[in-house]
Amino acid sequence: MRKMRRKGLASMAVQTVASTTDSAVDLGPAAALSCRECGHRVPLGPVFACEECFGPLEIAYDFSAHDTEELRKRIEAGPANIWRYAPLLPVPADVATKPNINPGWTKLVQADNLARELGVDPGRLFVKDDSGNPTHSFKDRVVAQAIEAARAFGFTTLSCSSTGNLAGAVGAAAARAGFRSCVFIPHDLEQGKVVMAAVYGGELVGIEGNYDDVNRFCSELIGDPAGEGWGFVNVNLRPYYAEGSKTLAYEICEQLGWELPDQLVVPIASGSQLTKIDKGLQELIGLGLVEDKPYRIFGAQAEGCSPVSTAYKAGHDVVRPQKPDTIAKSLAIGNPADGPYVLDIARRTGGAVEDVNDEQIVEAIKLLARSEGIFAETAGGVTVGVTRKLLESGALDPSLTTVVLNTGDGLKTLDAVAGTGMTATIRPSLESFRAAGLA
Ligand SMILES: *Cc1c(COP(=O)(O)O)cnc(C)c1O
Repeated sequence: MRKMRRKGLASMAVQTVASTTDSAVDLGPAAALSCRECGHRVPLGPVFACEECFGPLEIAYDFSAHDTEELRKRIEAGPANIWRYAPLLPVPADVATKPNINPGWTKLVQADNLARELGVDPGRLFVKDDSGNPTHSFKDRVVAQAIEAARAFGFTTLSCSSTGNLAGAVGAAAARAGFRSCVFIPHDLEQGKVVMAAVYGGELVGIEGNYDDVNRFCSELIGDPAGEGWGFVNVNLRPYYAEGSKTLAYEICEQLGWELPDQLVVPIASGSQLTKIDKGLQELIGLGLVEDKPYRIFGAQAEGCSPVSTAYKAGHDVVRPQKPDTIAKSLAIGNPADGPYVLDIARRTGGAVEDVNDEQIVEAIKLLARSEGIFAETAGGVTVGVTRKLLESGALDPSLTTVVLNTGDGLKTLDAVAGTGMTATIRPSLESFRAAGLA
C-alpha cells in the first residue's frame, strides 16, 4: 500500500535523474543514495524515490576513514554551529567558508523547574531549544544541507512546500547564499509565519488548501517545465534536507558529554526529523563517539492531526491520512511521508507516539514559559504536553535522562496564547499602582 502511494512520485524522480547522470558532485562523505526499503543504490543526484521499488532514498556514507578520537577532537575544535559535524553530513569539506546562515549549536537547557512541575527527578530533564536558530525554528538545519545539494546540482531557484517555518528558513538561506526563492504555503497560516517567510525578499505563494494540497501541487510543478532548474528542498532534495535533523542528535549527545540520552520526545509533522534523529544516534554509536546503550524515542502529535499516533495506538503499520484541524499548524501534515518509519522506531526503541489537544498545547506553552523562561511555538507545546501525558501514564520514566525538543519560537504563533496580556492598565501614578493592588 505504501508503495502504491509513491508510484507517481517515483516516475517523476526517474525522469529527473536521466538529465543528471554522471555529474560528479562533491558532497563530502556522502557516497551514494540508497533505498530505505530495498537498499538499491544510485549516484548522488536530485532524486528522492527508488526506481526499483519506489521507496524513499537516503544518503549512504563512507565513514570508514574516521579515527574516533581524531574525529571527536576535530568536532570539538569546530565552529559553534552545525558545521562542526561537516565530516558526518552531505556537504563539501569547506562548507563553513560559504555564505550560509550557520544554524545549530542551540542550547540544551537543564530544565529543573519544569522537572519539578512534572515530577521528573532533579537534573534529568532537558529542553533542546531550537528556537535559537537564525529563523527561529529547527528548519534552518535541514535547509542548510539542501542548499549545498542545490549548489552541487546547479539549481538556481530554491523552493519548498511548507507549514510555515520551512518557508522562512528557505527565504533566509536563499537570500544569504544568492539564490532566487519561491516558496509555497497554505494560505491560512499564522501572521508571524507569513511575515517571516516574506521578509527575506523571495516570492511567497499562498495555496488555497492545506499542506497536503500544497505538497501535491509542488510534486506537479517539479514534473513541469515551469519548475525546471528548481530545487525543492523537501521534495527533490529531500534526501539531503533530511540529514540536517541528524545534527540535533549529534548536539544533544555532545552537550550531554558524549552520552546518549535515555528518552527523547520529538514532534512529528512528516516524521523526517524523528527518523533522522534516530539515524544520527545510530551513527554516533557506530563511530564509537558514544557508548551504546538503549534509548527510547517518543513521537508527539496534535490530536487534531494525529495520523501517526492513531496508527500507533491501533497497532497498525499503515498510517491512514487525516484532514488536519489543530492550532499546531507547523505539525499539520495529514499524510506524513515518514509515518511508517516513525512507527518502526517508536516500537523498536520501546518508545511510543502520543497526542495532546489544543487546550493541552496552550497549557504546555504557558507551563514551559513560566517554569523555564522558554517561549515555544505550538510544536513545543505539543512536545511538552505529550511529555506530561507520557509521565502521567507511566510510559516515560521520571528517573531517566530525558530530552524534550522545542523546535520553534512562540513569537511566530502569538494567537495560540491570545488573551495572555497585561495584568492591569494604570495611570502613571503611585496612587493608581496601589489602587490596582500591585504594591
Ligand atoms: C517542520 C517542523 C517539525 C517537524 O518536521 P518533520 O516534517 O516531522 O521533520 C517540528 N517542529 C516544527 C516547529 C517544524 O516547523
